[in-house]
Amino acid sequence: MALRGKKFLDSLSDGRSVWIDDERVENLPEHPAFSGTLGTIGGLFDLLDDPKRRDEVGFAVPGREAYAHSSFLVPYSAEDLAKRTRAFDYWAQETNGVMSRLSDYARSLVTGWYGARKQLSQLDPGIESKLAAYYEQARDNDLFLTTSLLDPQIDRSKGLDDKRIAERFLHVVRENKEGIYVSGAKMIATGAPYTHDFIVFSFYRLESQYGKHAHALLVPANSKGLHIVCRESFAEEKTSDHPLSSRYDEMDAVLLFDEVFIPWERVLLYGDAEAVWKLRSHQSSNSLAFHQTVVRFVAKLEFLAGVAFAIAESIGVNGFLHVQEKLGELITQIDTMKALLIASEAKAHADPATGIWVPEASFIDTARSLGTKLYPRAIEILQQVGGGGFIQTPSSLGQFGGPIGELLHRYFEGVALNAESKIQLFKLAWDLIGSPLGSRHELYERFYAGDPVRGLANQYLNADKTPWTERVWKLLEKSRA
Ligand SMILES: Cc1cc2nc3c(=O)[nH]c(=O)nc-3n(C[C@H](O)[C@H](O)[C@H](O)COP(=O)(O)OP(=O)(O)OC[C@H]3O[C@@H](n4cnc5c(N)ncnc54)[C@H](O)[C@@H]3O)c2cc1C
Repeated sequence: MALRGKKFLDSLSDGRSVWIDDERVENLPEHPAFSGTLGTIGGLFDLLDDPKRRDEVGFAVPGREAYAHSSFLVPYSAEDLAKRTRAFDYWAQETNGVMSRLSDYARSLVTGWYGARKQLSQLDPGIESKLAAYYEQARDNDLFLTTSLLDPQIDRSKGLDDKRIAERFLHVVRENKEGIYVSGAKMIATGAPYTHDFIVFSFYRLESQYGKHAHALLVPANSKGLHIVCRESFAEEKTSDHPLSSRYDEMDAVLLFDEVFIPWERVLLYGDAEAVWKLRSHQSSNSLAFHQTVVRFVAKLEFLAGVAFAIAESIGVNGFLHVQEKLGELITQIDTMKALLIASEAKAHADPATGIWVPEASFIDTARSLGTKLYPRAIEILQQVGGGGFIQTPSSLGQFGGPIGELLHRYFEGVALNAESKIQLFKLAWDLIGSPLGSRHELYERFYAGDPVRGLANQYLNADKTPWTERVWKLLEKSRA
């Protein structure tokens, strides 16, 4: 492994407190829950050291010899934005769109904030220099970043006026000249065990009296008192039987903060709920970040469609009209998402306040909302096309070389595929639709960008509806005359 991948893996031995299956993980890269995924990420990091490929994923930082990942490129032109798209797409194609939190989303958020740092200093005069210093540190050290924005799911019918909730949601317990101490929990941070820093703020708007809960923080993963509590691992060892679970299990975790110290330079905002809300809703930064998620999603839909087409051909169902109709639907899914992506880039414009070249937010928002419905439907189509074939597979491909191998070769073959290749294909499909990893992905696509119900409702609430309603009233007025 070349320089950056290894540097990344080595950097994870920093005293962080990662918990899985009753144990504190001592060596992440060697632990079976993480080794496959970290190997994949290490390989992606290495691309920046490969002179032939580094321009696909990175850019030469002015004044430095080294390349940085293009998620750190502040776009000021259509060309810059296209460079970012290319980098996101390259990583997404390398991982078939299945790895979604490779830190390019969270890095983009930081990049957007950095590009807007002067404007954001209206929220707090200290934020400009903090963002400048942090952005450079993250860019020049290939920091892996992830977000953790939601509060623990204890009782969603209650808010911060409830003492139990207020105590458990992340809040400041004391402060001094050096920084603040925070306690409480944040839930779901994908990539948490192997991230360098967490970007932490409140996803929802808080009322002004809840200043202790209002903050925007950059929290080192190895902070004392911070515990990273992982879900069950979905990682499998054998790539032949589990081609996705063995490589792409991006671990999700809950973060428990037990009086964690955050130095002031990592406290972007604290105490001002409205300022935190403005930072969280900063449109240019959000557009840059969610633009990445749409690029990645297109790659995933393409991959899933490819699997569905191959399955249909392998068992000779691709000639049936209703199967063709469903496979055609997968193509419309891809084209719809691509069209939204292209539209967001074609309608990109310079943010008047910062000059950042921003993809058009409305198309990005629509792609996000639509994706929550398209992905479960794509999975459903794949199930309908393959029928029971997904579980008519021997438990291990190794059995083809075993005592009953000859029989397996005879009875598991497909239209034009030998039995081993066909079973390999169906095992890949199962990893998408039925394995624990596959189920997690369906949940992820429904929820990664926030509650889809409130997401769509916000699109309605935030849209300028007047031109559309005016037209209606005009017609009715004319009809009365
Ligand atoms: C696999 C996975 C990975 C994730 N990774 C990350 C990550 O890396 N970083 C990150 O920050 N987040 C991540 N998320 C979290 C994601 O942002 C949240 O799951 C999402 O915002 C929904 O919040 P919730 O899970 O708390 O659901 P809830 O908000 O508890 O919603 C549960 C149900 O109750 C309804 N509901 C709850 N409250 C209300 C209300 N006030 N009004 C109306 N309806 C309500 C919802 O509509 C929904 O149907 C991830 C989620 C998943 C599933």
